[in-house]
Amino acid sequence: MPLLVMKFGGTSVADLARIENAATKVQAEVERGYDVIVIVSAMSGKTNELVGWVEGTSKLYDAREYDAVVASGENITAGLMALRLQEMGVPARSWQGWQVPINTTSAHGSARFVSIPRENIDAKFAEGFKVAVVAGFQGVSSEGRITTLGRGGSDTTAVAFAAAFGAERCDIYTDVDGVYTTDPRIVRKARKMDKIAFEEMLELASLGAKVLQTRSVELAMRYKVRLRVLSSFEETDENSGTLVCDEEEIMESKVVSGVAFSRDEAKITLFTIEDRPGVAQAIFGPLADAGVNVDMIVQNISEKNYGGHPGAVTDMTFSVPVNQVPRAQKAMEDAKAAGLIAYDDLVVDTEVAKVSVVGIGMRSQVGVAARMFKALAAENVNIKVIATSEIKISVLIDRKYMELAVQALHDAFDLDKA
Ligand code: ADP
Ligand code: ASP
Ligand code: MG
Repeated sequence: MPLLVMKFGGTSVADLARIENAATKVQAEVERGYDVIVIVSAMSGKTNELVGWVEGTSKLYDAREYDAVVASGENITAGLMALRLQEMGVPARSWQGWQVPINTTSAHGSARFVSIPRENIDAKFAEGFKVAVVAGFQGVSSEGRITTLGRGGSDTTAVAFAAAFGAERCDIYTDVDGVYTTDPRIVRKARKMDKIAFEEMLELASLGAKVLQTRSVELAMRYKVRLRVLSSFEETDENSGTLVCDEEEIMESKVVSGVAFSRDEAKITLFTIEDRPGVAQAIFGPLADAGVNVDMIVQNISEKNYGGHPGAVTDMTFSVPVNQVPRAQKAMEDAKAAGLIAYDDLVVDTEVAKVSVVGIGMRSQVGVAARMFKALAAENVNIKVIATSEIKISVLIDRKYMELAVQALHDAFDLDKA
């Protein structure tokens, strides 16, 4: 039997009526002759509520118990979806992660797949079941504990199942009808793309476009999964939505194809650090050990460019997710107290956001950065930090200008025009 993976996100299973709507889409594919693996998220808002309960109970919580609580939202929707399908006459049953089993690492809160053996689900298909409804976002560690994959992780569950079961396609049903040039909730003129290259989607996702979890795009790219994003609230067919695919499949290629943003950034500056070999290691080593995800880094040119000589000093600025500021600050203070680093002052700015333009066309085009900076200057937006790669340029700016900057960049690169 040909097989499809269909994933429904939180808003698509937010209540019983929406679960029924999603089940109708599954039934249609079964009637077309497919076996279907359905991956469900928790009802929208549920995971946030569960996280809040954990944090309200224990500040420095045990991550294993966090996962035990937070994974439960998906158990409810998996069972309800299976029941709804049964009511429609579709042979279906639900699967929690441990029942499959979805084997993961023990990195609680951000676990990764180790293996997804097919035997149990295949046996049920062989018995005549048409649909396996699998709880997204969760797995089981080799210690037998429940794990979760990080926020937005059901996308990654879906792609992993598509790869493991050789699915014809992995359809991600959500509350927008595809991948847009930027978040359509911020820029009304944002344009839906019919296709987007894996590399571009990977950058957009990792730079903040939460329509797909970054890891899901990585897996799809590695295992050549045909990945599609489409709306669960509209009539859809084989041509709906946005296909995430190889670069070669895309005809029209623009210099910049999308704008991404991330609100929850913070900037930390260490003033007057020594300028000598080993200083960067002395700063970023302890940050890594503390589990801080450092993103952008800038080191000032040393005073009069005479870095490296005894007594030379400089400043170091880096960005981290805003919720990791306390951990980062403590790591720096501990390193200073232990004599590993010396600095005069540590200054934190928690009111920053990152805005990025992404496009594979940038590889062969000069002047993209200049065009970006010109558009920001025209809006009087000050740039605090800049980072570039082959296919993206990111800037850190004051958070209060984020939407303005996204809008300005969308206009500057004519992204509303096909
Ligand atoms: P789900 O609950 O279905 O997983 P998410 O909220 O995780 O849905 O992701 C869908 C949301 O992603 C959209 O509602 C939209 O606001 C946001 N989004 C951000 N950037 C983009 C983009 N470039 N294209 C489409 N949606 C985007
Ligand atoms: N329910 C989880 C979350 O809200 C996983 C997901 O929806 O993808 O992060
Ligand atoms: Mg999501």
